[in-house]
Amino acid sequence: MSASVPPRVRIRFWGTRGTCPSPGPRTVRYGGNTPCVEVRGPDNHVIILDAGSGIRALGAHLLAAGHSTPIQLLLSHRHSDHVLGLAHFAPLFEPGNRIHVRCGEGEADALAAFTRAMLTPPLFPAVDGLSSRLDFSEWDDHDAPLSNGLVVKRFPARHPGEAAIFRFDDANGPLLAYAPDNELAYHDQSAEVRAWRAALADFLRGVPVLIHDATYRHHELPQHAGWGHSSHVEATRLALECGARTLVLFHHHPDRDDDSVEQMVEECRAQATRSGAPLRLLAAWEGLTLSV
Ligand SMILES: [Zn+2]
Ligand SMILES: [Zn+2]
Repeated sequence: MSASVPPRVRIRFWGTRGTCPSPGPRTVRYGGNTPCVEVRGPDNHVIILDAGSGIRALGAHLLAAGHSTPIQLLLSHRHSDHVLGLAHFAPLFEPGNRIHVRCGEGEADALAAFTRAMLTPPLFPAVDGLSSRLDFSEWDDHDAPLSNGLVVKRFPARHPGEAAIFRFDDANGPLLAYAPDNELAYHDQSAEVRAWRAALADFLRGVPVLIHDATYRHHELPQHAGWGHSSHVEATRLALECGARTLVLFHHHPDRDDDSVEQMVEECRAQATRSGAPLRLLAAWEGLTLSV
């Protein structure tokens, strides 16, 4: 029996839908919960990306598994689809638990006030001690170590109200990038936006797994300029430019049914094939697991 090499990182999707939860028979395959992704490094510490409605099932899973190590939560931004599950995250209701929320420099006070408001009346029933189980720490613009060798780096997304794109590295280089809400706007050829896109492609260069916003179909882009999202075609173009090995389409539009998501994946596969690059294409579904 040969010894297997443990993965450098394991990724599991708990919420894949953008904007608004959209459960129902038309979304059963890809899921209706809003963004939440679990990332585990080699030490099994849990890093959670975003607290959309998908975090509810993750919380139940962690409790059932008896998970007791510290949990780190990284919020890409504060739009409701990325935070609406926080008050339903079961580990928060366990006395003695600590959830460490990581945020950018200068954001901790605002984020603490925001989450306190979410977890107290009138938005939520009074439950003693909930918000006190969250603590906030800021990182500067340099690499921020997370757990057992994983490091997170941030890049500014183009998104109303600001949002972060995260890249996770270990000692051997990039592992994963997460860009849930990001307007690539390839039609915009202004010097400023071109420079930003070039810097983003550099930031993502060689990343094995890229999770990227694919909210729109290409023909829907003109009427949504400035809304902060991309098409599946644009996400594929970025993945080809940065040399990603796997692109995971993410943040599916709430009106997009399963057949339409599958059709978008096929269109992206054809785009990748035409380029000649060996890019693997997936659309994220609840329960999808990936390892690097
Ligand atoms: Zn969103
Ligand atoms: Zn957003």
